[in-house]
Amino acid sequence: MDDFVEGLSEVTCDVLVIGGGTAGPMAALKAKQKNPALNVVLLEKANVKRSGAICMGMDGLNNAVVPGYATPEQYTKEITIANDGIVDQAPVFKYASRCYDIIQELDRFGIRFQKNANGDFDLKKVHHLGTYVLPMPNGDTVKKALYRQIRRERILVSNRFMATRLLTASDGRIAGAIAVNTPSRNLCAADAEWRYRQEGALPADQARKDIGLQSLHGNAPVDCQRRQDRGRHCGEHAHG
Ligand SMILES: Cc1cc2nc3c(=O)[nH]c(=O)nc-3n(C[C@H](O)[C@H](O)[C@H](O)COP(=O)(O)OP(=O)(O)OC[C@H]3O[C@@H](n4cnc5c(N)ncnc54)[C@H](O)[C@@H]3O)c2cc1C
Repeated sequence: MDDFVEGLSEVTCDVLVIGGGTAGPMAALKAKQKNPALNVVLLEKANVKRSGAICMGMDGLNNAVVPGYATPEQYTKEITIANDGIVDQAPVFKYASRCYDIIQELDRFGIRFQKNANGDFDLKKVHHLGTYVLPMPNGDTVKKALYRQIRRERILVSNRFMATRLLTASDGRIAGAIAVNTPSRNLCAADAEWRYRQEGALPADQARKDIGLQSLHGNAPVDCQRRQDRGRHCGEHAHG
């Protein structure tokens, strides 16, 4: 069930994540884990339960850097060679260094990776230097497990809202988005006050007024609703 309430046309949050495929739910989870007090909104134009590239599941993790099978140095070299040297090695190495922790975290979430008789990850050698392919015989567990975590962390899910325009603050930074509810065509403004509060550039109320009201009423391509729920906070809808 969607968390956004019918008729609500403005949502205020601390962190707004657009796209609920694979990266989006993980980003929302990480933000919430970093600070559980944050109101995190996940905006998805379809339904987070089955949206994105891996909606039907995936066959395996093709770039798993697991101790005993490959090192971050080896993986970075392999990727560099495979791309004829056209690669930014620093983020590749950082990914490779953190990969095993992420796989273990996903394993704890209930995402099923192939394991051998000893219960260890069962990697297969496909590449030249190292062994990086971790089969996933039940790839359909990925989205279900991510969705369970999102609900557990009480992240507000906004299914069927498509972001159509990013809202920018006076300093040019992105501070929110206008979204259209795809079945009803109603508009919603989601503004992330966090940046304002952090940087102290504008008081939160003024920021909301600037980016929310002006954009909603000034540039709306279709009729938008009045802000019936002014003052209500997104967290109340998710957990109230
Ligand atoms: C058929 C297929 C098989 C694959 N198999 C494997 C595999 O076996 N192993 C592997 O490692 N990788 C595999 N991949 C690649 C991997 O799945 C992707 O790289 C990864 O899932 C991408 O995740 P993402 O979150 O970046 O993007 P996506 O999963 O595409 O998520 C983006 C989300 O944003 C939403 N969205 C887009 N625009 C808006 C908007 N304006 N407003 C609101 N929401 C919006 C979309 O609906 C979508 O849910 C496969 C990809 C495909 C297509």
